[in-house]
Amino acid sequence: MSGSGSGRAPDDLFLKIVAGEIPADIVHADDEVVAFRDVSPQAPVHVLVIPRVRYESVAELAAAAPQTLARLVAVAQQIADAECGGEYRLVFNTGAGVGQSVFHVHGHVLGGRGFTWPPG
Ligand code: 5GP
Repeated sequence: MSGSGSGRAPDDLFLKIVAGEIPADIVHADDEVVAFRDVSPQAPVHVLVIPRVRYESVAELAAAAPQTLARLVAVAQQIADAECGGEYRLVFNTGAGVGQSVFHVHGHVLGGRGFTWPPG
C-alpha cells in the first residue's frame, strides 16, 4: 500500500527530505509538492518533483490524487521555464526493471542539453 492512508514507509528517503531530516537543494515547495535538485544530476537541469504524500507510482498518484499530479506537472513546467527555456524531458521511472530506485513517485525534470531518442 501507499498513499495517504499507508503512513510513512520507514525507508522512504524522499519523505525524509520533505521532513527536512536529509538536506536537499529545494527549488520549490508548496502544500502539495516539493522539488529539489537530484544529488547525481544527469543533465545541467535535473530536478525531482514529488508529492508530499507517498505514492509508489505515477499511476497510483493519478488515481488517488489527480489534482496533485496536475500540480506536479505545472511545477515541472515552471522549473523548466525558469531554468531551460521550457524545453525539458519529464520522466517517471516505474518499476525497478526500468530504473526506479526510490519508490516514492517523482518526476525527473531534465533539461539544459539535447537528448537522444529512443532513451537508453
Ligand atoms: P529513480 O531511479 O527512482 O527514477 O530516481 C531516483 C533519483 O533520486 C536518482 O536520480 C538519484 O540520483 C536521486 N537521489 C537518490 N538519493 C538522493 C538524495 O539523497 N538526495 C537527492 N537530492 N537525490 C537523490
